[in-house]
Amino acid sequence: LSRNPGEQEFHQAVREVLGSLGPVVVKHPEYVEAAVLDRLCEPERQIIFRVPWVDDSGQIQLNRGFRVQFNSALGPFKGGLRFHPSVYLGTIKFLSFEQIFKNSLTGMPIGGAKGGSDFDPKGRSDAEVMRFCQSLMTELGRHVGEYLDVPAGDIGVGAREIGYLFGQYKRMTNSYESGVLTGKGLTWGGSQVRKEATGYGTVYFVNEMLKAHGQSFDGKRVVVSGSGNVAIYAIEKVHQLGGTVVACSDSAGYVVDEKGIDLEILKDIKETRRLRIEEYADLRGGAAKFVADQPVWDVPCDIALPSATQNELSGAHAATLVKNGCRVVGEGANMPTTPDGVRVFREAGVRFAPGKAANAGGVATSALEMQQNASRDSWTFEYTENRLAEIMCGIHDRCAETAEEYGSPGDYIAGANIAGFTRVADAMLAMGVI
Ligand code: NDP
Repeated sequence: LSRNPGEQEFHQAVREVLGSLGPVVVKHPEYVEAAVLDRLCEPERQIIFRVPWVDDSGQIQLNRGFRVQFNSALGPFKGGLRFHPSVYLGTIKFLSFEQIFKNSLTGMPIGGAKGGSDFDPKGRSDAEVMRFCQSLMTELGRHVGEYLDVPAGDIGVGAREIGYLFGQYKRMTNSYESGVLTGKGLTWGGSQVRKEATGYGTVYFVNEMLKAHGQSFDGKRVVVSGSGNVAIYAIEKVHQLGGTVVACSDSAGYVVDEKGIDLEILKDIKETRRLRIEEYADLRGGAAKFVADQPVWDVPCDIALPSATQNELSGAHAATLVKNGCRVVGEGANMPTTPDGVRVFREAGVRFAPGKAANAGGVATSALEMQQNASRDSWTFEYTENRLAEIMCGIHDRCAETAEEYGSPGDYIAGANIAGFTRVADAMLAMGVI
């Protein structure tokens, strides 16, 4: 802790992983002898840089950019960029640390990284977002590359931002290095299903958990937090599998729609017009209700999919969900449940899928995008979605089997942490003291 003062989320993420590893180091003292845990908690490299840009009124604006390249034992660094005013080093370090284990769980050759900026895209014109992205890439560009580090999107970074970032990188390097970023547009090196992948993947994972108990999404009432990329496509897949998402949110409140969230309206509001969730209630007339300034967790449901941001679901929220009948939770976001919330769910016997396993479909499909770029190929939607579904089933089974092997059957947190850790730790052992 004293090496990383004030980085609260990073401490939380490290505690969560190390808390699962007791049985592993007992069985494998070689990890301790080779200081694998100590080395794993120290990023290989962290970069902090100035991002100056000019707004539409001619004023100079200043933001801070980050890239934390945490661990590349399994492959080039890989992880998204987040643009949100709350971003500081502790946010990026926690996300980057989580990304190591998530990427490991996919079984694909990718290391863990994350980056971003305290830039707030809300209320900014396209031209301002472009100038900001160009300035950020002018510095970040020297630290990324197909074999070095491959960023993607996260909160506040979608297709528009990836386009501006890629355009600037292409210009700087005088080459068309498709594999330097993922989440690209379909006509210029992007992959089918990448946009849908995190949300779909979360629902695939939860579906496997349900199947393990002879259940399915059919007829289930589901609540999703957020209404961004992950939330929208989680809702879409739940509906395809026969469940009904009755509520979703943004940072200003939530909407309840007992008939099920209308995706056409939601996509129009959030993806096309970049409006607030409050507009949804207006567009649905009397069918939906908007509740201002409250999180979505007091809406009764069978299954909850927190898909907005870290620490959005507290112990009190978890207790309300349990009281109202929620039996399964799948984290679409990264670390959305506080340690207290996790404890409440554990004590109530709620089946719980941690983000590093449940939301790994996004980065897995990014790795599929890298494969397509490397082979100058592009696959169909159906083929790519089948690959995603297989990967999510594989992650589910690996977590379940590992939890069983280490004496915690049904504990997906332990399973994900241990399975994610051992693959990275073995690679680090093989490579010596680096
Ligand atoms: P988006 O920017 O598309 O959407 C984020 C959503 O969460 C918005 O509805 C936003 O509301 C809400 N939100 C963000 N911050 C807060 C906050 N502080 N309080 C309340 N609500 C908030 O991001 P994504 O959907 O891409 O990401 C959501 C989560 O999923 C993040 O934890 C991210 O790290 C994780 N994730 C994303 C992946 C991806 O492929 N995109 C991959 C794996 C994980 P508002 O608009 O009001 O801010």
